[in-house]
Amino acid sequence: MTEPSVLEIARERVLKAGAGLEEAEILEVLRLGDEMVPDALELAHEVRMRWCGPEVEVEGIVSIKTGGCPEDCHFCSQSGRFETPVRAVRLDIPSLVKAARETARTGATEFCLVAAVRGPDARLMAQVKEAVRAIHDAVEINVACSLGILTPDQAAELADLGVHRYNHNLETARSYFPQVATTHTWEERLRTLELVREHGMEVCCGGIIGMGESLVQRAEFAAQLSALEPDEVPLNFLDPRPGTPFADLSPVSASDALRAIAAFRLALPRTVLRFAGGRELTLGDLGTRQGVLGGINAMIVGNYLTTLGRDPQQDLDLLEELSMPVRALSETF
Ligand code: SF4
Repeated sequence: MTEPSVLEIARERVLKAGAGLEEAEILEVLRLGDEMVPDALELAHEVRMRWCGPEVEVEGIVSIKTGGCPEDCHFCSQSGRFETPVRAVRLDIPSLVKAARETARTGATEFCLVAAVRGPDARLMAQVKEAVRAIHDAVEINVACSLGILTPDQAAELADLGVHRYNHNLETARSYFPQVATTHTWEERLRTLELVREHGMEVCCGGIIGMGESLVQRAEFAAQLSALEPDEVPLNFLDPRPGTPFADLSPVSASDALRAIAAFRLALPRTVLRFAGGRELTLGDLGTRQGVLGGINAMIVGNYLTTLGRDPQQDLDLLEELSMPVRALSETF
């Protein structure tokens, strides 16, 4: 008798039982031949429909402090250590409320305040508090935050404010992280995620594919995320930014990006798997369709932090055409 293929194993275990693939199996998916990619995506889509349903969660993000970060994440144009075209700016509270209102108008249920910092200082925490209160008073939308490494007190403060979800990416496999950043560790990032969970906020944790990691490390990363059981995983593809140490890396090929989407869904059958930055570069307009038919069930609409995204209406039109409703706010409160 021949051994079952990894997709046959996934059909039994992931689709029928809702349990994710193991690391070695994830690697097999990442190594599938091009001719098997459509089958992998189709299965990933079935898994997403079975365990998450047809809704797509839509989120907007806004940068409350851009650029000038003291850390050295090699992919990031917001690091103050590299010569990049990103200018350091801060947004005021009325502008943040306006951005939240515009995001809510697209049907989005999440609005994430992002700051390019190692972790928030007292001034940033005060600004965030004011912003979260002002947005909650004026707009019906869940507020999420992404403010870097937290202390236990800061995690408690954000939870008390009603912050619904906290984003902090592990970015890549534990074994590859020292090639990506040297000013802080993977373990420090993990500790913040543990604090987020301890304080009752939803955990949003993903990373970037295509930073020079091997396929073995890509599988390791998916397995490490699966062990963390995050509520949401934003999946980015490296968009090599001028001036950063990763500026000369080649973007991930479309077929590798699609293999990664299928593999991450089969590793994380129940999580919100969000298309984040780099999808336009890697997959083009067609790729958004392939992604949401291949396991993705959430997207960021509009612009990313330092790069432009697509017109939100293009994404919303696509979801309507595919009969995938935008997840309603009442379900997420
Ligand atoms: S990824 Fe975050 S912590 Fe790292 S340099 Fe960029 S803004 Fe700073």
